[in-house]
Formats: sequence, structure tokens, C-alpha cells
Amino acid sequence: MPRHAEIAGAGLAGLTAAAALCRRGWTARVHERMPSVRIVGSGLSIFENGLRVLKAVDAEDDSVRDARRGLVRETRDAYGNTTSQMSYSGRMYEITRKQVASALAAAAERAGAEIVTGSTAIAADPEGVLHLENGRSMKADLVLAADGIHSRVRDSLRLPMRRQPLADGAIRIMIPRSVEEAQTPDGKMNVEYWSGTRRILVAGCSDTELYVALTALDSDSEAKTLPIKKNVWKKSFPFLDALIDRLDGEARWDRFETVKMPRWSSGRVVVLGDAAHAMAPNLGQGGACAMMNALALAVELETAQDVPAALTAWEQRERPLTDHTQRWSTFYSALTTWPDRMRSLAFATVTGVPWLRKQPLRAMNHIPTGTT
Ligand SMILES: Cc1cc2nc3c(=O)[nH]c(=O)nc-3n(C[C@H](O)[C@H](O)[C@H](O)COP(=O)(O)OP(=O)(O)OC[C@H]3O[C@@H](n4cnc5c(N)ncnc54)[C@H](O)[C@@H]3O)c2cc1C
Repeated sequence: MPRHAEIAGAGLAGLTAAAALCRRGWTARVHERMPSVRIVGSGLSIFENGLRVLKAVDAEDDSVRDARRGLVRETRDAYGNTTSQMSYSGRMYEITRKQVASALAAAAERAGAEIVTGSTAIAADPEGVLHLENGRSMKADLVLAADGIHSRVRDSLRLPMRRQPLADGAIRIMIPRSVEEAQTPDGKMNVEYWSGTRRILVAGCSDTELYVALTALDSDSEAKTLPIKKNVWKKSFPFLDALIDRLDGEARWDRFETVKMPRWSSGRVVVLGDAAHAMAPNLGQGGACAMMNALALAVELETAQDVPAALTAWEQRERPLTDHTQRWSTFYSALTTWPDRMRSLAFATVTGVPWLRKQPLRAMNHIPTGTT
């Protein structure tokens, strides 16, 4: 009999796990509370490590089709001067979330997974039962709580955990861009502008789609207001006024948060992705860590018969990289509160000292389990 997984959440973590488990002989059912797998959303940077996972679950081609391959990321000061430049030795694509989620959903279904939309999970039992809002309870060899940072399934387990709001957050918005704009030198890279505690990340996702993230302190009520207060942002970035004028359409503010749990599993239930280890998005690795851990979990379970023991072994092997990445992205968020000069000095130090330079890049240079 194939072993069976019930999965709460059709995000990057849940869909990767479903595809990877089904490719290893499991059956899997994914419950997504929304009426469809993510149909809107902003941009995502997916580096070599994430791309390798997408390839391993047969979702890479669909994910990167027409996406922009990035080579360089720059930080610039309030006057547009470059303060640091990082070029990637591996691959990096800037992709819309919708495209990655659709690619993963298609790969999961090709592998045999069932995706049930409009199905909300509310709790799980460590013996391997997932409870749904509609009153049904589903028995499984493995239950995955991959229902994101606000995970109800994780909370139902009453495992120790700490959710810590960070000082900053971001408004994310997608706007159209022209092919000519995409061909300019700036159009081919990701640029993050800093002005005091405010920053603007500009990253093209394709020839026609531009992702803009406006990051500010949560206490900066003018900057986080929606609809975007263009004059407030223009005051901080006067030379970006033409771009700021284009920031119309659907946008959302999210405060950055970290989730830390001393253990990611209880019996036959595992907490996966943001539900277990949400991190500030500064290194562009939250989604990649979710996908790496999901694939590694399926690899671990391929031969292991004792599910709880396999979950412990998997966590011991995979967790140190996620913890390291979370620490460095939290440090980057802390820089937001530093005075401009100290921050520039910190960037110069991190990029100038070889050992330090490697630390924030460790996850993106990692060869994930199951991808060799
Ligand atoms: C501003 C910002 C920028 C980011 N940029 C990047 C980046 O460039 N690169 C990167 O790798 N990561 C990035 N991240 C992080 C990345 O978005 C997350 O780490 C990733 O989405 C986590 O995936 P997940 O599947 O764990 O959770 P989610 O993506 O949150 O998916 C959870 C899913 O579960 C569903 N759900 C929720 N509750 C229930 C329920 N009770 N029952 C059933 N379904 C439920 C939700 O609708 C959702 O579909 C960024 C994050 C932010 C905030």
C-alpha cells in the first residue's frame, strides 16, 4: 500500500512536498483554503538552490518560462550612488509567485497529488489526523502543516514556538513595464535604494512586469499607508519620482516576522515552510528554504519506515542552514534602524571580508538534498 500524506496549504512548501512525495510512491492530498492556488502575488527571487529543487520536482521549466534571469544586485543610497554590488555566480530568476505556484501545482498533479481548493484545515493530531473546518477528519501516515506564517494547524499542536515581529515590513506591488525599459542596464538587475529607514527594491520579473517593494519601519505610518502615499515616498527618493508615479493598482503591506520553533514535528505531524521558520525576506531565501526542506523531507521518507524517527533525522540534517539564513536575514532587517553611514559601513564590511561575504550567500550556494 502506498503511504499517504494530508497537507494543509498549497503554497511553495505544501506543493513541493506533494510533488516530491508522490514522485516517491506516496499519495498526497493538499488542502488549500482559497478558491484556487495563488492567483495573484508579487515577485520572487529564486536562486540556484531553489531552481534545483524546482527541477527535481519537474517544475523548473514552467517556473522560469519568460522570467528574467538576474545577474547583479545593487544597493544604492538616497542619491542613487551605488553602495554595494553583488553578482551571482549561480543562476537567479526573478519570477512572479503566481507562475511558481502554478508550475508547482501542475507538477504535483502530474505526479498524482490531489489538490482540494476551498478546504480549510484547522488542527492536527500527532497520531496522523488532519481536521478540516467542514467537520471531516483525514487519517494519514504523515500530516504536513504548510499553511503559512499564521498556521492554524501548527498552533493546534501546542508545540513551543516564538513569533517575533520585526521592525520593518513592505508594500509589494506589480506594475507593467515596457520591453525597452527591460533592456536598460538597470532593467536587467535588481536594485535596492536606501533613504534613511525607507528602501525601494526594483526588480523586473519579465519584459513586461516590474516588481516593486517599498520597505519601511512598521512605526512609519505614512510610508505603510495604502493606497501608496506617493508624495511621502517621493520626498525620500526624489530621483525616483517617475517610477513612484507609476505605482498604481493592487498592493499589500506585510510586516516582517520570524517564527522559531525548538522542534518542527510532533509524532506524525510536521510543520513546514513559513509555518515553522518564517523569516524576513531580505535574502530572498524564505521560499527556497521552504522548498529545500520539503524536498529533503520526501527524500528522507523514501526509505525510512518509522515516520516520527525520519522527521527527527530530517530536521537534524536540514535545520542548521535554515536557522543560519533566518539569523542573517534578521540582521539585515536590523540594519534598517541604523544610521545611513553605519549601514553603508556594515555593507562595505560584509561585502569586503571574504568569510563574511559568504554567510548571507550560504543558502543560495547550497546544493539541496535530493538535487544531485
Ligand atoms: C515581502 C516578501 C518578499 C519575499 N521575497 C522572497 C523571495 O524573493 N524569495 C524567496 O524565496 N522567498 C521570499 N519570500 C518568502 C516567501 O514568500 C515565503 O517563505 C514562502 O511563500 C513560504 O511558503 P509557504 O508555502 O510556507 O507559505 P505560504 O506561501 O504562505 O503558503 C501557505 C498556503 O496555505 C494556505 N493556507 C493558509 N491557512 C490555511 C488553512 N488553515 N487551511 C488550508 N490552507 C491554508 C494559504 O492560502 C497559502 O496558499 C518573501 C516574503 C515576503 C513577505
